[in-house]
Amino acid sequence: MISTSYSFAQVAAMMGGEVVKGSLETAVNPIYTDSRKPQANANSLFIAIKGDRHDGNLYVQELYERGQRNFVLSYIPIGLQIPDANVILVKDGLGALQSLAASHRKRYSYPVIGITGSNGKTTLKEWLYQLLHPHYQIVRSPRSYNSQLGVPLSVWLMNETHNLAIFEAGISLRGEMEKLEKILSPDIGIFTNIGDAHQENFQSTEEKIREKMNLFKHSKMLIFCKDHVKIAETVNKEFNREASPELRFWSTNEASHLKIISHKDDRNGTTITGIYKEIQMEIWIPFKHPAAIENACHCWLLMLELGISEAEISQSMKLLSPIEMRMEMLEGINGCVVLNDAYNSDVVSLGIALEYLRQQGKNKRRTAIVSDIAQSGEKGILLYSKVATLLKANGVERVIGIGAEISKFTALFDNFDAAFYIDTDAFLLGFMKEHFSNEDILLKGARSFAFERIGERLTEKTHETVLETDLNRITDNLNFIKSKLKPSTKIMAMVKAFAYGSGSYEVARLLQHSRVDYLAVAYADEGIALRKAGITLPILVLNPEFTAYRAMIDFDLEPQIFNFRTLHQFAKVLEQVNAGGRYSVHIKINTGMNRLGFDPEEITMLGKVLQSHSKLLEVGSVFSHLSASDDEAFELLTEKQLERFQNAIGELSKYLSEPFLKHILNSNGVTRHPEAQMDMVRIGLALYGLSSHPEARRHLKPAGKLITTVSQIRLVAVGEGIGYSPKQILSSTRKIAVLPIGYADGLPRKLGNGNWKVYINGSFAPIVGNVCMDMCMIDVTNIECKEGYRVEVFGDHADIYSMAIALETIPYEILTHVSQRVKRVYIQE
Ligand SMILES: *Cc1c(COP(=O)(O)O)cnc(C)c1O
Repeated sequence: MISTSYSFAQVAAMMGGEVVKGSLETAVNPIYTDSRKPQANANSLFIAIKGDRHDGNLYVQELYERGQRNFVLSYIPIGLQIPDANVILVKDGLGALQSLAASHRKRYSYPVIGITGSNGKTTLKEWLYQLLHPHYQIVRSPRSYNSQLGVPLSVWLMNETHNLAIFEAGISLRGEMEKLEKILSPDIGIFTNIGDAHQENFQSTEEKIREKMNLFKHSKMLIFCKDHVKIAETVNKEFNREASPELRFWSTNEASHLKIISHKDDRNGTTITGIYKEIQMEIWIPFKHPAAIENACHCWLLMLELGISEAEISQSMKLLSPIEMRMEMLEGINGCVVLNDAYNSDVVSLGIALEYLRQQGKNKRRTAIVSDIAQSGEKGILLYSKVATLLKANGVERVIGIGAEISKFTALFDNFDAAFYIDTDAFLLGFMKEHFSNEDILLKGARSFAFERIGERLTEKTHETVLETDLNRITDNLNFIKSKLKPSTKIMAMVKAFAYGSGSYEVARLLQHSRVDYLAVAYADEGIALRKAGITLPILVLNPEFTAYRAMIDFDLEPQIFNFRTLHQFAKVLEQVNAGGRYSVHIKINTGMNRLGFDPEEITMLGKVLQSHSKLLEVGSVFSHLSASDDEAFELLTEKQLERFQNAIGELSKYLSEPFLKHILNSNGVTRHPEAQMDMVRIGLALYGLSSHPEARRHLKPAGKLITTVSQIRLVAVGEGIGYSPKQILSSTRKIAVLPIGYADGLPRKLGNGNWKVYINGSFAPIVGNVCMDMCMIDVTNIECKEGYRVEVFGDHADIYSMAIALETIPYEILTHVSQRVKRVYIQE
């Protein structure tokens, strides 16, 4: 390890904490804060962070049992038994981590570049890395690590092999930038731009700019674009003192250090011409978006200020490549899962991807296909032995190394099932499907290795329509729901109907990691499939069928009991199976939905029967379901239901000696009636980002997108019709694109003949003619597009609420109708 390892006593001092237990000399590195990603080794340090909803201190026992020995805690949980552990006690875990990072930062005198602004921070950071790495040994923030937690974790990566650092900083609240400034103290600042994000937490755009500008309080230089008038005004107001940073700006219309005089589209890119210190110069970038041009100008000005020559700048600008910021999890051939991470190729991002594979994968066997690692800093044997250690630590058994560099170090991979190829072509030449089955495969290649070609072979794209689920959005939605709840309220996540169409296993796995309290499925089969895939959370089965009782008991699934028949039958099976102990069941009360459940008049009797079965059954919870939580017009009905439920609970409590959980709210219930949250809420639709409540809609993020690609484009002449039994004869020539999605995939036939518009290359295109079983046609006459283009059937643009209106239905039905043959893809940033 590089010398950034501090002793336990040093770390305590840097954090302002106190060693209450253990050895002062233990060397510490790495550090981590996520208890779901244990990295236990003799030197790893777990820092417990306590938030509003989550308390890292509570997972210390569990981590200790997995071998973790060094801890930073903000209190000692009752009953904690960690005899030979080393413990630092601090006031606040996050604050301690921030102080640690700030103090670590001070050891280095090489320049730190700090980037903030509303958009483009991550792309700008990665581009600067691409442009500057021939000149410097760079350390930079992994992915978009720019938060109160991400920034200190990034700074912790600094060591003396580097001579330049590039970090991003993002905030959403007042007062946050001040803390990040203390950790980063950037020498050079870049302010990208300002937009509307997080505006709700600030009084005005000016206030938000001022807050962000705090990052540059002690900087020597600040780079920005003067065309963002509000930024320029605020900079001038705030930074006119003696010790202010030197201001360097570019502009397209005002006198500036770098004056952009033109930018022209050509050859799939843009030529930008500017004047710097009275010299006219030019760069070409392989992008056309305004956002890319802005990023390039920020980079350009910085490089000029760093003294890099015009020729070197223009050469490296040509090679800029897009930043793929997401990891894609795909269903692969022969039961494989493929995690395609094209983000970048360095050891830090390899570590992140491996952790992700460990959390989200579903097979026991893990394989990594890794190219030469393209990073600055360490090289050769040091670098690849790190790679081998990481792979081993994450349970990888099989390694396929591709590239001339990695192939030099085959000896480091002796204790893997390993194979090496000189390039991607060499690997594909010998590729056979049979070589991969029931394994989780990480694809991690530098861009030049074009691993997407391997991805295609491993995922066998037979049908080009996919339902994409954004797992980050599910996490964000869960956090939004939590923000509406008391910290003690439990959450039951509804993953019935294949997790509302999104694919139950992956979503359940994510929810288990996010530590929800319960899952619920509709049928026993769904629960059994989750158990087989390694889900250990308690699972409620809403429609337990008599024939499945035994299997449910074998797989530890808890039934909803909704009448005396199911109660007696379940008790009887329990008696026959003689499983020992008491089995948890959930009692459903009918309060007005008039679907399943015990009626109010039956509660007394129910109490008595439950008493008589008390040796076999334990009442895990008692619950009911609101029939109109989404609609204000039914407020009286909802109130009546709440009252009936309270009465039923009161009556039932007379007969049950132990406490039980009570719950009645679903997603819309939480937004409309948070006061009725009781002990637990049952959340379905909102997890997937949908709601009927306008306020909630603004905060939730729809997680599902139905995506397809253009199969064929043709011009259809005047007088012709389109598809089966054409209703219309064309009066002008039309350009028609064929899409591989039809009613058998879940695109209802009712959406044909202009009743829905899909989104393609920035425009909306109507479906024309009747929707066929496996295909449909759209009119793209005025839209620039080609075969293979991506088409959004519903998603961020073609929104599912409007589709529901067109179909006279609700989003639930649309999501659950996407057919099983549509491949599910999971996205994670
Ligand atoms: C489906 C279901 C829920 C979840 O409802 P959403 O409106 O999707 O949040 C809650 N409770 C029961 C009994 C359900 O069947």
